[in-house]
Amino acid sequence: MQSHRLQQTLAGSFHVAGYGYWSGIPVTVTLSPAAVNTGICFRRSDLLGCPSIQATAEHRHETQLRTRLTSSDCSFDMIEHIMSALHAAQIDNCIVDCSAQEMPGLDGSSLRFALGIDQVGVVSQSATVADVRITTPIRIGTDEQWIMALPHVDQQLDSGLTCEYRLDFGPQSVIPKGDYCIAVNHTAYMQEVAPARTFITHHEAEILQSQGLAKHVTHRDLLVFGSQGPVGNTLRFADECARHKLLDLIGDLALSGVQIHGRVIACRSGHVLNGRMALELRKLAFSKAFTQEKYQFAKVA
Ligand SMILES: [Zn+2]
Repeated sequence: MQSHRLQQTLAGSFHVAGYGYWSGIPVTVTLSPAAVNTGICFRRSDLLGCPSIQATAEHRHETQLRTRLTSSDCSFDMIEHIMSALHAAQIDNCIVDCSAQEMPGLDGSSLRFALGIDQVGVVSQSATVADVRITTPIRIGTDEQWIMALPHVDQQLDSGLTCEYRLDFGPQSVIPKGDYCIAVNHTAYMQEVAPARTFITHHEAEILQSQGLAKHVTHRDLLVFGSQGPVGNTLRFADECARHKLLDLIGDLALSGVQIHGRVIACRSGHVLNGRMALELRKLAFSKAFTQEKYQFAKVA
């Protein structure tokens, strides 16, 4: 059986600035090192008292098209791309200070966050990480849209998280069909997943903008698909959409707050199903009687 790895945090801080996709509000986020057992904590530096929320599945608010954390005194929107880059790099403890509710949309990918982690580096800490090893299958969803967690084929040899996303919106969809699978680690993630941008159909974009949302977003800021492919933009990968859904899946599974050992396969799932799986894995991890230590998460000051 694989021994627990040590917890990790960033070796330094970095800033990322941009605009929220939905709100259009300028925002700067600062990712900084944090003590053992802090977890990933988002903190509103623009609000009185700087309220914070730990990024775990029980704090996820059920929202379509993005992942939101909510408490009684603050919210954080579109956290999934930051969470994805942190989880792929096995960062367990980090403070994310935010100057507004919605995270920067940037180019629609998590590349800027992954590059920031690369630039400041990662350090090991003095405590082991909480983890969950999937030994029996867990399936959530319907026949058409589902997510499944499975044991590794060889449980003695395999550890860590392998993720697969199956994207297929049917023959009439303008979004190209694709499958993508990755054994999640920072190097592979940087090359294969982090540059993959979010996407939307031209029809969906028109509806959003008619509702007053995402008014400042242009075809250059994310992939907008018409019948002939991306409008006014070119793909970074032929299967960029499937890769982006995998990016989102990794970010949502990070809400488990633990190191996952097993395979997760998602078929047409979105943030809601992904988040429910994260909650199941979190419950599974913490229902076990840990013999080595209790994982009490510290409150961020
Ligand atoms: Zn996304």
